[in-house]
Amino acid sequence: MPDRAEDKRPLLDVKGLKKYFPVRGAFGNTVQEVKAVNDVSFSLNRGETFGLVGESGCGKSTLGRTILRLTEPTDGEALYEGADIFAMSPTELQKMRRDMQMVFQDPYSSLNPRKRIGAILEEPLSIHNIGTPQERTEKVLETLTRVGLQAEHYYRYPHEFSGGQRQRIGIARALMVDPKLIICDEPVSALDVSIQSQIINQLKALQNDLGLTFLFIAHDISVVRYISDRVGVMYLGQMVEQAATDDIFTDPKHPYTQALLSSVPLPSVEAKRERIVLKGELPSPLDPPSGCVFHTRCPVAMDVCKLQAPETKEVPTGHRVACHLY
Ligand code: SF4
Repeated sequence: MPDRAEDKRPLLDVKGLKKYFPVRGAFGNTVQEVKAVNDVSFSLNRGETFGLVGESGCGKSTLGRTILRLTEPTDGEALYEGADIFAMSPTELQKMRRDMQMVFQDPYSSLNPRKRIGAILEEPLSIHNIGTPQERTEKVLETLTRVGLQAEHYYRYPHEFSGGQRQRIGIARALMVDPKLIICDEPVSALDVSIQSQIINQLKALQNDLGLTFLFIAHDISVVRYISDRVGVMYLGQMVEQAATDDIFTDPKHPYTQALLSSVPLPSVEAKRERIVLKGELPSPLDPPSGCVFHTRCPVAMDVCKLQAPETKEVPTGHRVACHLY
């Protein structure tokens, strides 16, 4: 097993990342912008899982896709081992993508129904020009076993698998090129609860065996709690709080995080937690509220919150929160 402690530098350092989508008018001009990701900063340490949580539409999936440059950023930096992904040439990007892979919510839609699983899994090796045909086949067989599938699955087609098995194939495809970092975008949201825990335990085992680093994106805060070392909470394109998982769950500081956690059942029947019901709908990222973007739903909003966006502060070290209460 690789030594997690051998290198303390962040594997990925994201600074001030913005991704705005233009809304075009009748003449093709930009009339408005959807601020899907707005000034997000965080880092990923080697061998850790950073969980990214928030309601649907908060920008967490766009953030993952922008880091991989599946969509181009509007502004900011994403340093992978010190090199800015957003400044990379196509050749450098291709090389970097060997290190950084993605697992999607619905692997079925990205599995070619006419190809056997063996051929699908060999594809990334061909793209990156890795190994001889025999070595590629051996790698596929080894990876199938690693993700809990069998050698006989090599010859089957995607429609012959269950949802959980397909997600294992999605994970196997990401593993084929021996990546260091995997961005898991809602990898268990479409699965039954019993299958969810199998897949998450599989991911944890792979992380231990291979020293992988995960950016784990999910809307289910209980799933994020189970797998993550640290957690970031997103609201309307912004990172409102980030801290070690235990700190987030025992001492949530941002009113939005407190509301999110209040809906999670406590393990003990005696334990009670007051449910915080947020008023109103999630505002549109086309027209985010002024000042603190959460002020229209915040139960403890103050006058300053409507006028001034809060700075992100460390309270204490390692626990970052963007709120005027601190
Ligand atoms: Fe609520 Fe104000 Fe804090 Fe925003 S800055 S979360 S509105 S208290």
